[in-house]
Amino acid sequence: MLEIQRLRAGYGGITILWDVDLRFAAGQLTAIIGPNGAGKTTLLRTISGLLPIQGGDIRLRGKSLRNVPAWDMPGHGMVLVPEGRLVFKDMTVEENLRMGAFVPAARSWVADGLERAYTLFPKLAQRRRQLAGSLSGGEAQMLALGRGLMAEPQLLLIDEPSLGLAPVISQELFACLEALKREGKTIVLVEQSTRSALAVADHVYLMQSGKVLLSQPAASVELEALHDLYFSREAAVAGAPSPSPA
Ligand code: ATP
Repeated sequence: MLEIQRLRAGYGGITILWDVDLRFAAGQLTAIIGPNGAGKTTLLRTISGLLPIQGGDIRLRGKSLRNVPAWDMPGHGMVLVPEGRLVFKDMTVEENLRMGAFVPAARSWVADGLERAYTLFPKLAQRRRQLAGSLSGGEAQMLALGRGLMAEPQLLLIDEPSLGLAPVISQELFACLEALKREGKTIVLVEQSTRSALAVADHVYLMQSGKVLLSQPAASVELEALHDLYFSREAAVAGAPSPSPA
């Protein structure tokens, strides 16, 4: 569904991603894992049009996204779900959800979309009139995901949904991702917790220092070997001892 070929991207004159090649198959959940600073968020920002393509290309269903602006991506069936703290804090939960349906095609089903978001995340229904800034981390993450779904995307780019969440809330969110996958959504998940990512992913990419270090079907990934690769090279770069596995 989405193909990335020899992509170079970064900030201003700085290149962060160096000729990365990735493919995201329709209906699958692909996890992108890697240590801090690997370039995972930069990759999602570039795919979603927030950062310019410096070299190479990104193709959605065969068509280049080079000249598609970020605001038009939902119209092409793709949304970026940022970390939960990037919800509109001064707006209510319901106003945030409505903001997700700004795409003309989605406007006609706002009522259905709201009902669906509240069914998926009952906690949001209880807090529909509450300001988003007063939500807990987990609720804000649910709201970010619910807002993204309001555009009726076929492809979701999700950035670190479990960041800073209690394990039980994180499990709830991962169960939602599995449900979305069963519905046929294509999901690109950036995640630092390798264990959680492997449990839901069909395919895994490991990134480090702006490059793809490993591309493998999730079912054939050995967690220990993955951690060796993930941590040993990070430790070699930082000159520090390996941290314990996530
Ligand atoms: P994390 O898991 O910590 O979020 P990441 O893999 O998502 O890490 P990025 O956030 O993509 O990594 O960062 C990759 C590199 O780009 C880092 O060296 C970072 O300092 C740099 N970077 C990120 N944002 C900017 C920016 N706005 N301007 C310049 N450099 C940036």
